[in-house]
Amino acid sequence: MVTFRLLVWILLSVFLSFPAISYGEKLQVITSIFPVADIARQVGGDDVAVTAIVPAGASPHTFEMKPSLVKTFASAKVFLIIGAGLEFWADQLVQSTGRKLKPVVLSDGMTLIRSTDPHHNESAKESPHASKKSPNAEHGHEHDSGNPHVWLDPYLAKIMINRIQETFSTVDPAHATAYETRARVYLAQIDALDREIADTVNQFTIRQVVSFHSSWDYFIARYGLTLTGVIEKSPGRNPTPREIADIVSKIRSFHIRAVFAEPQFSPKVADVIATEAGVKVMILDPLGGETLTGRNTYIGLMRYNLQIMKEAMQ
Ligand SMILES: [Zn+2]
Repeated sequence: MVTFRLLVWILLSVFLSFPAISYGEKLQVITSIFPVADIARQVGGDDVAVTAIVPAGASPHTFEMKPSLVKTFASAKVFLIIGAGLEFWADQLVQSTGRKLKPVVLSDGMTLIRSTDPHHNESAKESPHASKKSPNAEHGHEHDSGNPHVWLDPYLAKIMINRIQETFSTVDPAHATAYETRARVYLAQIDALDREIADTVNQFTIRQVVSFHSSWDYFIARYGLTLTGVIEKSPGRNPTPREIADIVSKIRSFHIRAVFAEPQFSPKVADVIATEAGVKVMILDPLGGETLTGRNTYIGLMRYNLQIMKEAMQ
């Protein structure tokens, strides 16, 4: 039932919002973050030209729009986003291009993890994510609409792959068979990745995770780990001294060996916590990028992170 409803939704949104593509032309695809761009390339192969608008090293949570993006959008036929508030700037971006390119929201229909932390709800009320003036302000995206980091769960990535394949096949039916074939091959690779992660995580002696922000919640849920602490409960919000003390005491009681920072944010608070608890800071990367060796595919990125976790937790 759900699948049928999703399919109807996709077909409708596709027919209503995509201009026709001419024969022999590559399907121009815009995505928000790099992992979506790579997944779109795996499905689209040579039939698509994909651009990710959040550059390597930047975070979608603190992304600032640039006028040059209007040009990037000029010939785009498909705009893929995660949704759930991750791309809180997407509507404004599309509007500023003067085009009616309705984004395909890849998390639509997924059961999203919702935060129960009371501070989250407070901060969401105090500073709604629509605030453009200070991109570093907490925008509380995860509280309004659920946690957006669905791509870090390979099972949910498979739902994204299917949706991307269906979108491409509808917008560019001349290459539908190629999209289907590539998606099938890629889904099998994701299944193998999923088994590899499950087998590796099963050997971890430490099962508790202190993550930098709420990026790993889906991964943690899928592979039976426990989220013990989150350093920045919403991106850009530093923990209070009391929250720091709480994380430090959990690190000690669970014998956690490392706290995780992320390349898109300053590691300063993670450093403070690690020093106080006498553990290491290690870098998990939820986003990767085309220019980052080993993290320049979605599968490579997941393996990179698995390796870091293995060093910290096996
Ligand atoms: Zn995030």
